[in-house]
Amino acid sequence: MRSPADYISRRAHAVDASGIRKVFDLAAKMKDPINLSIGLPDFDVPDVAKEAAIAAIRAGHNRYTQTQGIAPLRERLRKDLSAEMGRDVGEVLITSGVTGGLLLAILATIDPGDEAVFLDPYFVMYKHLLTVAGGKASIVDSYPDFRFHADRVEKAVTPKTKLLILNSPSNPTGIVMSEAEVRAAVEVARKHDLLVLSDEIYEPFLYDATRGLPSPAKLYEKTVILRGFSKSHAMTGWRLGYAAGPAEVIAQMTKLQQYTFVCPPSPLQHAALAALDVPMGNAVAAYRRKRDLVFDKLGRKFELVQPGGAFYIFPKAPTGITDFVARAIENNVLIIPGNVFSERDTHFRISYATTDEKLARGCEILSSLV
Ligand code: PLP
Repeated sequence: MRSPADYISRRAHAVDASGIRKVFDLAAKMKDPINLSIGLPDFDVPDVAKEAAIAAIRAGHNRYTQTQGIAPLRERLRKDLSAEMGRDVGEVLITSGVTGGLLLAILATIDPGDEAVFLDPYFVMYKHLLTVAGGKASIVDSYPDFRFHADRVEKAVTPKTKLLILNSPSNPTGIVMSEAEVRAAVEVARKHDLLVLSDEIYEPFLYDATRGLPSPAKLYEKTVILRGFSKSHAMTGWRLGYAAGPAEVIAQMTKLQQYTFVCPPSPLQHAALAALDVPMGNAVAAYRRKRDLVFDKLGRKFELVQPGGAFYIFPKAPTGITDFVARAIENNVLIIPGNVFSERDTHFRISYATTDEKLARGCEILSSLV
């Protein structure tokens, strides 16, 4: 007789979520910690968007929408993205968060054995979604500067490589690819005929860029742009993102959405349209200040690279990472060990999306552990 555990697929077993689960377990045991582990903004959804969501529910927008999302939102995003990229970006699909877009893009392109290349440190989901699809992650070490080194990336490309996954601004390093790096990435993609998945979820959080985000979509048509509302408008619980790119790829992602997510949340799509007109500049300015604060304070004690975007910084731990994270937690500061995002276990991630007081206090405590 099979026990319930015997029903579990090899696919499910192959996904290892132990690293991040350990952190959640630790967090649950701490009383009022200085929590520098959270990957979401510390402001709330703008009132305009909340009101628009309530109005949409009252107006009866509570049923399935078209699988690809409501037309006014898709059209607006296509117009805005095309203006930004300087060319028509192709079709737009509204997804259930950027997670939905990533899953559909990988399912639509990766056959068992196909490979996808991305930098280490990486957003943890890339590796696991590739496993779910039966693909292989080719992970390219980018330590110690976390920059895009085309020569290293090229070495990881094989005849089975289909995707180059880029994430700028990056989670967990906060690094923003320069225009030259993006050009080099596009050259690699062109030379080896790769599709680029460009995860730009942190695009609004840019602190030093004077000409907007250097995106591969500006240079290379075979790019699928993935963006969303989770971070830009603090809507992580609304589950809204979007994908834009070549019609053939978006059509297959749409077909797969039909049989998985069906459609993104209907009233929230209407609210997202309203959210696009809310200026978020103040939030970005506040985060730039927090970036400066954390870089200045930790820079005195830790080896670290200045982030140009998102709300993370990825310092090197002075001792073994398990010991350092344990000591931080003993002192009531919650950070994430770098091996959650990396094949190495030498660094740790701080999210500075918290109050200035908590941030300053957290930095003091961490510095005192060195
Ligand atoms: N991509 C990156 C780099 C992220 O950091 C996250 C969330 O932390 C996501 C995608 C997924 O975001 P969501 O599914 O909430 O849109």
